[in-house]
Amino acid sequence: MSCIFCDILSGVKDAHILYEDSSHVAFLDKYPIDVGHSLVVPKKHHERITDMNSKAVGDLFSIVPKIANAILSATNADAFSLGQNNGRAAKQIIPHVHVHIIPRYNHKGTIWTKRSISNTDELSILARKIKSLLP
Ligand SMILES: [Zn+2]
Repeated sequence: MSCIFCDILSGVKDAHILYEDSSHVAFLDKYPIDVGHSLVVPKKHHERITDMNSKAVGDLFSIVPKIANAILSATNADAFSLGQNNGRAAKQIIPHVHVHIIPRYNHKGTIWTKRSISNTDELSILARKIKSLLP
């Protein structure tokens, strides 16, 4: 079965990569809820977080704060939400474990905006900015 995230990891599909280490990659969501919406993905394919061992889950979440900090600095967001969905009924669209980092802005309120397709140039510029802010 093909998997869009595995295709991104193997370089078959493009993504605006923000971060990469030996077991994880982070990139901008193609259909962001808001500016800077990003995904942190383990390189090993698992459908649900319950399919991973606890160390792998811990390693995945341990890199979320530094990526979230860089996103907040780059976007001037006021806050962020984390999302992690498991299974179709939970609105998991891509069946490969991922953590959503969703920046939130005071002036926009707490309503979730409709997801839209971002302009590729805008995403490139934003990805570069976030990458430059990562330690
Ligand atoms: Zn996959």
